[in-house]
Amino acid sequence: MIKAAFLDRDGVVNIDKGYVYKIEDFQFIKGIFDLCRLFQDRQYKIVIISNQSGIARGYYTIDQLEELTVWIRNRFEDQGVFISRFYFCPHHPTKGIGRLKKECDCRKPNPGMILRAQKELQLNLGESLLVGNQLSDIDAGKNAGIGRKYLIGPKDKFKSKPANCDVFENLIELKDFLTRA
Ligand SMILES: [Zn+2]
Repeated sequence: MIKAAFLDRDGVVNIDKGYVYKIEDFQFIKGIFDLCRLFQDRQYKIVIISNQSGIARGYYTIDQLEELTVWIRNRFEDQGVFISRFYFCPHHPTKGIGRLKKECDCRKPNPGMILRAQKELQLNLGESLLVGNQLSDIDAGKNAGIGRKYLIGPKDKFKSKPANCDVFENLIELKDFLTRA
């Protein structure tokens, strides 16, 4: 049985400055490496899933995103963390240019990226977990049948806590919780 920890990128791995595609704008969030090492110690594969409508909007290219992704992968490896897969959705239903303007199945809250990972890595999604900072992340996890879902952010940001989801102020709180669990 193979399980994964799915992480959103902007707002979970790095500070969400809006459409980040340059290395110089990419700032890791405190606690992300410790959290990932805990997941690895517990035999989770680590998968990053990210809506990147900046591509649909023409703010940056797939090549630019991939260059950043290689750099991110290397920074994780410097910290002893192996990222099994990165998936991103380059579409947007209304703001996209050309063929990237579409209703796709990969843009969260749709489960497409998670289901693709499931097939490629033979994952058991019921045993997997997801960390996100938006309700659309949590809904994608729910729509894919992921067992445990964790929402990161100020408690007052979320008017009502989604079902079957725990909310933590930050990654350090989440890691402390999981260490005790
Ligand atoms: Zn998509």
